[in-house]
Amino acid sequence: MRTMIVTGASRGIGAATAYLAADHDFAVVVNYHQNKSAAEKVVSDILAKGGSAVAVQADISKEADVIRLFEEADRTFGNLQALVNNAGILERQMRLEQMDLARLNRVFTANIVGQFLCAREAVKRMSVKNGGTGGTIVNVSSIAARTGAPGEYIDYAASKGALDALTIGLAKEVAEEGIRVNAVRPGFIYTDIHVSGGEPGRVDRIKESIPLKRGGLASEVAEAIIWLSTEKSSFSTGVFIDVTGGR
Ligand code: NAP
Repeated sequence: MRTMIVTGASRGIGAATAYLAADHDFAVVVNYHQNKSAAEKVVSDILAKGGSAVAVQADISKEADVIRLFEEADRTFGNLQALVNNAGILERQMRLEQMDLARLNRVFTANIVGQFLCAREAVKRMSVKNGGTGGTIVNVSSIAARTGAPGEYIDYAASKGALDALTIGLAKEVAEEGIRVNAVRPGFIYTDIHVSGGEPGRVDRIKESIPLKRGGLASEVAEAIIWLSTEKSSFSTGVFIDVTGGR
């Protein structure tokens, strides 16, 4: 069986991806940061349907945690074929003048340094150059990389812009080693992330400006992630799928 690591899979888009991955016969490593019970619920739901999954706590912004996450995946399932770099954070909406260094470090470490570390561990295992059998990496970016999120969180948007550059560069770097690297850029999706920004109702406030006139579901983003993680997208690398309702 092939294995997929989904970072930040206890809730939201990551949890929806873990469920869909199990439906596509991946053994799923359900990574989480703090919410153990939510991660264990995702795992027990997958096991109840006859799938394979394990919950692994790791803060992806810490190198030792990332290394332990991948080692636990090796020990539990082996045959890592897919990484979904999904975990990400945003902080309270504010303008640049109010942002302090501690916040900038938290956002950039959790939203781009962690993704570099996870991608590095994945490439070490997947690259045919290193004796692997290839695989896929899907980065969960954001529409904010295009819009910049002015007045809300330009730090978050900038971290997603960096993630897009990682996607383009790494896709070319490992293309001849059996690894495809792509990204999904969600728009306004109903998840808990907007609570961290201080505006739980953000999607409903914005939805009239979305051409499809509604917010998106985590499951709709998961469909794009799984397409990019499987052979169905075999000729695509370094590309972006916007899941934004047309915005
Ligand atoms: P969410 O509901 O807030 O869930 C975040 C997940 O990431 C949780 O599983 C959380 O674990 C985990 N996490 C946070 N920090 C972590 C860390 N340092 N190490 C490991 N795991 C960590 O978020 P979401 O809305 O599903 O977002 C998922 C991804 O989509 C993010 O990259 C986000 O930027 C992107 N995105 C979301 C939207 C949207 O509208 N929702 C739009 C564009 C892009 P715990 O449960 O343990 O805290």
